[in-house]
Amino acid sequence: MEAHAERVYPEECCGLIVGNLTASDDEPLKSVVEIVSLTNEWTPDKSNVDRPEHTTKQRRYWIDPKDMLRVQKAARDEGLSIIGIYHSHPDKAAVPSECDRAQAWPAYAYVIVSVCKGKAVDIQNWALDFERQFQSETMRISPSAARDRMPVSA
Ligand SMILES: [Zn+2]
Repeated sequence: MEAHAERVYPEECCGLIVGNLTASDDEPLKSVVEIVSLTNEWTPDKSNVDRPEHTTKQRRYWIDPKDMLRVQKAARDEGLSIIGIYHSHPDKAAVPSECDRAQAWPAYAYVIVSVCKGKAVDIQNWALDFERQFQSETMRISPSAARDRMPVSA
């Protein structure tokens, strides 16, 4: 995710997080199996606000619903599902914007990479609470995941 964010800087990158959603000790647990990088398909006509400075790929991202379906299908074939979306904030903090919040789906994890001058400097994970406000969600690298590294698509 960080490498993808650096590669497309100063534009925003985006992609999907595939894995499974389980619950342990009443805590929802999202386990990442695969990261699927996508092309940012943002175009200004997708905007419903009239602030031109906010309508470039440097400030917005857009995932093509066709990409979403394709990844969803492939995930389902492996018994997995899409559990989140990642994108980058070029020269901005890894904190969700109001636009991010408005578009967010309640069940998903939203990982944001902050890229300053082309270098990924921070990565944060967010999830909506019951009031549709983003709360920070902890990211962990499990020992088993580190041991048998899953293939990551380019
Ligand atoms: Zn954002």
